[in-house]
Parts: sequence; C-alpha cells; structure tokens
Amino acid sequence: MRTPLMAANWKMHKGPGEAVGFFNRFVEAIGDVEGREVLVCPPFVDLYVMGRKLRDLGDDAPFRLGAQNMHPAEQGAYTGEIAPPMLRAVNCDYVILGHSERRHIFGEDDEFINEKVKAARAFDLIPVLCVGETEDQRDAERAEEVVSTQLRQGLSGVDVTAPDQLVIAYEPVWAIGTGRTATPADAQAMHAHVRSILADLWDEELADGIRIQYGGSVKPHNVDELMAQPDIDGALVGGASLEVDSFTRIVNFKR
Ligand code: PEP
Repeated sequence: MRTPLMAANWKMHKGPGEAVGFFNRFVEAIGDVEGREVLVCPPFVDLYVMGRKLRDLGDDAPFRLGAQNMHPAEQGAYTGEIAPPMLRAVNCDYVILGHSERRHIFGEDDEFINEKVKAARAFDLIPVLCVGETEDQRDAERAEEVVSTQLRQGLSGVDVTAPDQLVIAYEPVWAIGTGRTATPADAQAMHAHVRSILADLWDEELADGIRIQYGGSVKPHNVDELMAQPDIDGALVGGASLEVDSFTRIVNFKR
C-alpha cells in the first residue's frame, strides 16, 4: 500500500514568521493525521525554523519538510544557490526538482534536472521529480511522449533500490495555477503511463511502490475525485496550500 503524500508547495510566499504561524494553526486544525503523510515545502529562508519545529514534533509525527529546488554540487562558487547537504542540515527529507516553473521560467533542462536527482539521492534526500506537458503538447497528442522523455532523462542512471527513495509528481503545465484541472480519468491514464515507465526503468514491484502525485489546481472541491483514482498517490498543491482551511481539507481528502 502506498501512503498518500499530500504536499504544499508555497513557491515564493510566506517568510519565516508567517510560515511558523501557518504551521501552528495547521497542526491544530488537522488534529490526528492517519494514513497519509504531509509535506511542506516553504521558501529556503523558512527551512531552518520549520526544521526545528518539525524536530520538536518528533519523527512519529506525519509532517515532513522539503525544499523547492537545489543545486547538484556539494558546495562551491555558485552564488545564490543551495547545496544538498545544507538541506539535510535543516531537517529536509524531500526536495522538489524539475518543477515546471524551474523548467519554463529558469530554463532548466532534463540533463541538469538529472544531475540534481542524482545529487539528491547521493545526499539521502527524496527527490519529488516533476513532469508534465504543455497545452500545445497535449493538443498535439504528444503528452505521453513528453512525459516519457522527462522521466527517462531525469531518472537516467539514478540509483533507486526502494520505493520510498523517489516520488514523481505529474503536473500538466496548463493546469498549474490556472484553476483548470486534468479530469480524474485523464490524470489516472497519465499516472498509469508514468508507472509503466518506472516499471520499465526498474521493475514492476518497485514501480508499484513509488508514489505518483498529481499537481495542477488541486482544490478542496476536486481532491476527493482525484485521490479516488487507483494510481494517484497524493497531491502537490500550490495556491490552495497557502490557506490553512483549504490545505487542511485537501489533506483530509476522502476516498
Ligand atoms: C504547483 O505549484 O506545483 C501547483 C500545482 O500549483 P497550483 O496548485 O496552484 O496549480
């Protein structure tokens, strides 16, 4: 059984004070969380204080911390960048890599993303590798091909020996921040496709255990239907993760 992973990607929102305030209210609102894991990915400047908060809650609490990006090098002359050991040092377990905003606004390609995924594994961080097609690619019926290429190149030479060492997020670019969501059936079809590629890269048993999140305008009103799909194992949530009420409802999805 795959434990659903419900993740907040705050992008460039909330400084340390707001982040802690949100988290305190969220922990109170959510109460006992069972049968799901909650991941919060705030901006870099919040990670230290959030890492301490999570440490205080203990390892048994279902809350985990992640970064939104990182550089693949261990250290060096990369002004403005953050290295994998720095993320480990502030209690991060996860790192989002290849988010469509990194690909499309900052020009990251599959080769660079692949270096990052390898570096994450080398430093014991769990990569959340984001893949997804643009609207033009979907209209041209190239969505599966585009996602296959992103997966095969992004995961090339990556050492994964257990299913909890990797998460994939399928995020159709046209659905991110737009209020448009893939239909549950279309999302399920792509998730099944992603799983078949993972089986091809490793084996079926490993692929069956790897969590594949859906991202792209996940909201309280559509989360239940999406999470009811057999290959949707969680959500990567942008806009709706910024408010305690909406993120609480999303984490409390009902199947
Ligand atoms: C995201 O940031 O990955 C995302 C899916 O954003 P939103 O939920 O706002 O579409």
